[in-house]
Amino acid sequence: MSSKFAADFLTTDQASRDAYRAWMSKAFELLCERLPTEAYSGKSPAALSDVIDGEVFPQQPLPIQEILRDLSTIISQSIILTHPNAIAHLHPPPLIPGLAAELVTSALNQSMDSFDQAPIGTILEEKVVKWLCDEVGLGSDAAGIFTSGGTQSNYMGLLLARDACIDRHFHWSVQKQGLPEQAKKLRILCSDVAHFTVEKSAAQLGLGTDAVVRVQTDDQFRMRPDALRSALRKLETQELIPMAIVATAGTTDFGSIDPLPEIAALAKSVSAWFHVDAAYGSALLFSIQHRKQLAGIDLADSLSMDFHKLLWQPISCAAFLLRDSSAFRYLALHADYLNPELHEELGIPNLVTRSVATTRRFDALKLWISLKALGRKKLGEMIDATIDLAAHAARIIRSNPRFELLHEPSLGCVVFRYLPAKAQLNPDFFNAKLRQQLFERGIVIGHTIVRGQQCLKLTCMNPAVSKGQIGELITQVATHANKLEQLG
Ligand SMILES: *Cc1c(COP(=O)(O)O)cnc(C)c1O
Repeated sequence: MSSKFAADFLTTDQASRDAYRAWMSKAFELLCERLPTEAYSGKSPAALSDVIDGEVFPQQPLPIQEILRDLSTIISQSIILTHPNAIAHLHPPPLIPGLAAELVTSALNQSMDSFDQAPIGTILEEKVVKWLCDEVGLGSDAAGIFTSGGTQSNYMGLLLARDACIDRHFHWSVQKQGLPEQAKKLRILCSDVAHFTVEKSAAQLGLGTDAVVRVQTDDQFRMRPDALRSALRKLETQELIPMAIVATAGTTDFGSIDPLPEIAALAKSVSAWFHVDAAYGSALLFSIQHRKQLAGIDLADSLSMDFHKLLWQPISCAAFLLRDSSAFRYLALHADYLNPELHEELGIPNLVTRSVATTRRFDALKLWISLKALGRKKLGEMIDATIDLAAHAARIIRSNPRFELLHEPSLGCVVFRYLPAKAQLNPDFFNAKLRQQLFERGIVIGHTIVRGQQCLKLTCMNPAVSKGQIGELITQVATHANKLEQLG
């Protein structure tokens, strides 16, 4: 006798399997048959709010047809990442094998905090992480953990850096005693285009955003080693402590890669933790033509890698890697119900000891499946194709005198702006307005501010987009800008 809820969960029961198939096949059908043909409907927040009406939690269950209509609405008002006109962010279309793995991940719902909630998941995650450490070249003491993204990975790197620094300088346990008075002396250095989560981490770590020292970049937005050297010298005269240096391998706006070997050497010379934010650029490890741009990444003390960016995994999929795995001790606490000390003696791995999260998804599975499904050659070609696409976009932009290109793309980002011919049009205001109007027409390009100037940005993430399609997109941007200029 099964309970009246038996068909609400996936089991070996026939009724349950039928219910699962019914729901899944309807969802599949919507995705396969109702995928919008535009990148976005262009609807405003207010219009979207009107689209979703009805009560959130009805007293009685709704008929499935009605629910499918709601699902269909959600699909129709989403950003369609496979569309060539969805090119704003480091936000990729997900690979089909990754989607299949994701289905298994969510159906089995293993939780990665303890071995007894995810036995094979734990072992697989450890294997994938170990393999990643080897790919980077971090050495035999390295270890890592899957995270929710670069934000969490950067936070973890700086957390371990902080606690190791305070331990070394002041023989003080932050985990136990909180921050000492001298924590005010700690500084984190990163480039002036490093990700904002460096400041966000500093704020959350009790160091404050003032603890972050931004170092100048060169004309291609890479950290200048000479500027870093003077910043370090200045800290020394002020009797401040360089706790960590964060290099970026693939900046979010420009894809620029800081000179890793030079920065690593400077970090070593002042005993600072060397964290490499490779959330975006780590994919170059698998590139055929561009891997050499990552020279020096093996010198990192810790590393952020996102697979939900250039490796096309469904969100979330990312990792934090650590050269000396013993530093995870700054994070570990014992919970009697999850990771009893007995397990340590028995050699049972409970990954909660390496994570800032407790319940955690089995995200390693989709990466593992995708790597197998594609193989090295094809994955490398896909990465190279997105970089080629950006180079092509840059050539087109350079050839139009109304456009200004702000850098030579090294990954998939192309930052540029439109220069209105009419002197009375403020270019900053104009580019902001242009981007907004394009969005309202379903053309989703990026925007950012570069050295005080409002810019437009293309982030090439989709290797399935052709050069012709990106050319067409840039033509649409130029045409619209011309029209806007005539009106202004
Ligand atoms: C995207 C990105 C991050 C943040 O990563 P999330 O996965 O969004 O949390 C951090 N650093 C860089 C360089 C990034 O591109």
